Amino acid sequence: MKHLVDIHSERCIGCTRCMRACPTEAIRIINNKASLIQDHCIYCGNCIINCHKSAYKVYSDSFANLNKYQIKVAIVPLAIFGMVADEAELGGIYKILYNYGFDEVFDLSGICSLLSEKVNEYIYNSDKTYILTHCPTIVRLIQLKYPILLENLLPFDFPFEIGAKVIRKIVSDKYQISEAKIGISYISECLSNFIAVKEPLGKQGSNIDNVFLFNDLIRNNLDKKTGLTNLVKSGVHFCQTGAYQHINKNNDVLTVDGIKQVDEVMENLYLNKINAVKLIEAYSCVGGCVGGNFTIENTFVAKWKASQLFEHTKTNDDELLNQYRKSLTDNDYLFSELVNPLSSYQLSDNIKQSLNKMSKINQILKQLPNIDCCACGSPSCHAFAEDVVNKVKTIDECHFFRKEK
Ligand code: SF4
Ligand code: SF4
Repeated sequence: MKHLVDIHSERCIGCTRCMRACPTEAIRIINNKASLIQDHCIYCGNCIINCHKSAYKVYSDSFANLNKYQIKVAIVPLAIFGMVADEAELGGIYKILYNYGFDEVFDLSGICSLLSEKVNEYIYNSDKTYILTHCPTIVRLIQLKYPILLENLLPFDFPFEIGAKVIRKIVSDKYQISEAKIGISYISECLSNFIAVKEPLGKQGSNIDNVFLFNDLIRNNLDKKTGLTNLVKSGVHFCQTGAYQHINKNNDVLTVDGIKQVDEVMENLYLNKINAVKLIEAYSCVGGCVGGNFTIENTFVAKWKASQLFEHTKTNDDELLNQYRKSLTDNDYLFSELVNPLSSYQLSDNIKQSLNKMSKINQILKQLPNIDCCACGSPSCHAFAEDVVNKVKTIDECHFFRKEK
């Protein structure tokens, strides 16, 4: 991740805001500067939006990369439906991207509409509670913190990956060129999708060739003159939370957004406290994709705009959906590899050493005030005790301990 997200140390003042916002305790303040424990990061982007000094820099791809391709395709994120109130405005965003040099622009409404049919079919095949896999941060949270819940994850790939597979085939047919000559770029609305493209889950790599940040490319200067889009009305709702709850008539979908709330719900599932739920529709960002870190609209205004877009859209969904259906195989919907656990929270590879470290952590904790003041530069007294045992910090860095001494 180092080459993708960096902290400008000259901007950072060590204020601890990002550290306190991080749901996985992946940030420490060392020598008055924020420092990232990359293995603990789930790419929620909370640190970026909470830093008032704009110290976090995300490196997207260079536009020069596009020159390699004969046909350049842009896929716009679902969050776009919260930034436009009608199809003409959506067309305006398409037009901005054509002006950047893209030959084709697609949105993900059709893909999500088809994917939801697959999800609804799949969840009733067993008595498990499934977890939706639209948001890569949720998948990474499960990999890192609740590996036992990996068997509850749906097997379906992220919408932009499924989209890239089908769009490559459609464009190849249209222009009669090989798929290798087509460059697909994703205009990402959040850090989560951005990193999922750059550092995909398995060895096989992403189906997306380049990724750009939405707010780098598109500001508020929408051009209303172009109305042609490939919008599928039934897919508009998937830009926000509650889409599955909305289409599922059985009242057995639990919807949750905001990574801290999601974490609590996953803990409940882990403790077997959630029953009679078929699907947990979980998103890292508040409001779902419309709340993404790189969007340009207030989340609640975006939710309202998405409803407006739905109301004002008069597309013939069937024609587009049939085109996608013809090009998609059952395998195209699935992750190409198994989603495996990640073990960055292990204290050691050796069980004896782990237990030893655990007992040292508990001894240190007894000497700390346990008020999680963050003044030591660790996000909690427990994390500080762990840092002391791992020799990242010394116990004297606790102000209370020093004062007592
Ligand atoms: S929020 Fe984090 S990165 Fe930003 S100035 Fe404060 S400590 Fe530094
Ligand atoms: S992206 Fe999220 S998990 Fe990663 S360091 Fe930032 S706040 Fe923590």
